[in-house]
Amino acid sequence: MQTEYSLKLRCATCGCDDKFEFNEDKSYVKCTFCNREYLGGIEELKELNSDTIDEVKEQIKKNTAKYIQDEFKKAFKGNKFVKFK
Ligand SMILES: [Zn+2]
Repeated sequence: MQTEYSLKLRCATCGCDDKFEFNEDKSYVKCTFCNREYLGGIEELKELNSDTIDEVKEQIKKNTAKYIQDEFKKAFKGNKFVKFK
């Protein structure tokens, strides 16, 4: 079962996802590609990426549901009285 999901935060201005520079506690983030500064830090960046984050959450939900279903199928294998659709 997949337990780790990574998602890339993108710069709201240029869309770059690997040109970030930040301070130690990520309270300040800067995109070195377009020089946009996020004075709200990583939290501001997350906020601007909330659509992407929602997508990942959906993916986790789906994968979890499928995992549980598979486990049930295994558990009931050979039992003709239990059917899964
Ligand atoms: Zn940028």
